[in-house]
Amino acid sequence: MITGKTKLLGVMGYPVEHSMSPAMHNAAIAHLKLDYVYLPLSVKPEALTTAFAGLAAINCTGFNVTIPHKQAILPLLSEISPVAQAVGAVNTVWRQGDAWVGTNTDIVGFLAPLQDMNCDWNSAVALILGYGGAARAVVAACAQLGCPTIHVIGRNLQKLQQFSASWHDADITDKLQVHVWDKLPQLIPQATLLVNTTPVGMHPHAEASPLSVAEMMLLPPNAIAYDLIYTPSPTQFLQQAEKQGAIAIDGREMLVQQGAAALKIWLQQPVPVEVMRRALQQQLQRE
Ligand code: NAP
Repeated sequence: MITGKTKLLGVMGYPVEHSMSPAMHNAAIAHLKLDYVYLPLSVKPEALTTAFAGLAAINCTGFNVTIPHKQAILPLLSEISPVAQAVGAVNTVWRQGDAWVGTNTDIVGFLAPLQDMNCDWNSAVALILGYGGAARAVVAACAQLGCPTIHVIGRNLQKLQQFSASWHDADITDKLQVHVWDKLPQLIPQATLLVNTTPVGMHPHAEASPLSVAEMMLLPPNAIAYDLIYTPSPTQFLQQAEKQGAIAIDGREMLVQQGAAALKIWLQQPVPVEVMRRALQQQLQRE
């Protein structure tokens, strides 16, 4: 129930209509019987500064940030966590007195399904397809895991070089290597962890895959294939990887866990992850 004391949370993005976050967060809030509401906040790029000031003026507790604001919001914040600084993007913002603080919970979200894997990360080779916003969190997460080699593969050499030059953390720059797509046949047989961070294979193009069947056949059978896409599940990419004997992980748990980590920051208490997981499942079935 919305009352005169209801506190505001939300997700700021453009477009934001298809976000799964309101369903997940409001289910958790209802379960905890707290007086909060989590709303979609549709903010065009040119309205970011105005919207941000407005959220402070109406005493918003905190909000998620999604495309296209994850990097643009950085200069507006008073404080940025070291992880968000390393990634160069913020997805969670909260108030601390008069200041706004930002962090990035995509790393925690990405790592969650990998924590219990029986894998020697200190000798693992990570292969990341794509160099967009999500890839940045994945690179930082792989460095945190201890992977000594992190290969990033993309289709545009200039963008790859920009991606490579954009890192300032020595732990990451020492491990990172960038390659054009043609190098995949050489790299795939070495992969311990293969991550798709491109949108290729996402609904409504479920028949597509970033890798050909022939390329996927080069994947070692004990590798972990991780697709950040959460609809459909499994994607073609994961189906082909499973045929190879690889362990398949889809993007749903990352989505749930990045949201749970954000909600924990805002509420300053444990949050019901299973309730959020179920709410996401139901929302995806409705779509
Ligand atoms: P983004 O910033 O737009 O980056 C997309 C990347 O994919 C770019 O490097 C782009 O390269 C590459 N790409 C696009 N089409 C391609 C193609 N046909 N072949 C090869 N590369 C291609 O997007 P993002 O924010 O990183 O998100 C990427 C995906 O991750 C989306 O599917 C998103 O839903 C998913 N995601 C999931 C979660 C989760 O919690 N599960 C969180 C974040 C993102 P070019 O620049 O060369 O086009």
